[in-house]
Amino acid sequence: MLVFTEKKVLSQHLSSIIEANKSIGFVPTMGALHQGHLSLMEQALKENDTVVVSIFVNPTQFNNIEDLEKYPRTLEADVNKMQTLSENLLIYAPDVKDIYEQKLASESFDYDGLELKMEGKHRLGHFDGVGTIVKRLFEIITPNRAYFGEKDFQQLQIVKKLVEKFQLPVQIIGCPIFREPNGLAMSSRNERLSPQARKKAAFIYETLQKSKQNFITKSAQETTEIVEKAFNKQKNFKLEYFEIADEKTLCICQKKDNNKKYRGFIAVFIENIRLIDNIPMY
Ligand code: AMP
Repeated sequence: MLVFTEKKVLSQHLSSIIEANKSIGFVPTMGALHQGHLSLMEQALKENDTVVVSIFVNPTQFNNIEDLEKYPRTLEADVNKMQTLSENLLIYAPDVKDIYEQKLASESFDYDGLELKMEGKHRLGHFDGVGTIVKRLFEIITPNRAYFGEKDFQQLQIVKKLVEKFQLPVQIIGCPIFREPNGLAMSSRNERLSPQARKKAAFIYETLQKSKQNFITKSAQETTEIVEKAFNKQKNFKLEYFEIADEKTLCICQKKDNNKKYRGFIAVFIENIRLIDNIPMY
């Protein structure tokens, strides 16, 4: 299993793969790997000759210093998990300097307004940080295909927009949300929940599923109010937002349009840990 920590060395290694006309798949992660991450790698392994996985906790996409500091860093365990999938995965686990050199700062991006909704509204600068790291990693790895989870659906749409705007020669592939047996979307943050909270957090997906049912007969506003009320009754949760929005533009649904696909998006705190999830409403 090859673990690279320097972009120069990784690029050198990849150049022979590119010369041999082999395809490169890429799965960017921040580590603390779980089955959700591994499902992305599995898909990438099926569709490419070589797969690179990056493990990098990107400081510029955190708007909360405590969240950045507490983010789990478990490289050794991550490598062991990847080994169970394939010995041939290439791992790029740089330090901050290898990526940012002297200047630890984000570039600014215009994603045609996608960055102003939901996560962008609540985590200022987050998507500038995401764009900065994704663009840099694409430059270093030059993948043919890159895999992103629908768990971070807004991020997936933002990355597609980034590729379109900069005309980057990479295909972006969205992968389904992997869930724990109780329905909770897998996340590295789940590790920070107490066992009780982890059980209770099943309520998030249960409520999303109910909202999907409600949305068949009710308006977006009515459906949203029902979700808000359900969370208000729960003393363990603090709902940050629930929105039903158009998948493409992420604009909130004011009036149902049969030509549009909608998704319900949620961000909620439990034990001060912020969890996000989403569900297609069709
Ligand atoms: P992260 O390490 O949280 O930045 O996630 C790395 C990639 O894995 C992103 O594209 C995420 O959307 C994806 N991902 C995280 N959790 C899941 C999940 N439960 N199911 C599918 N993909 C996921």
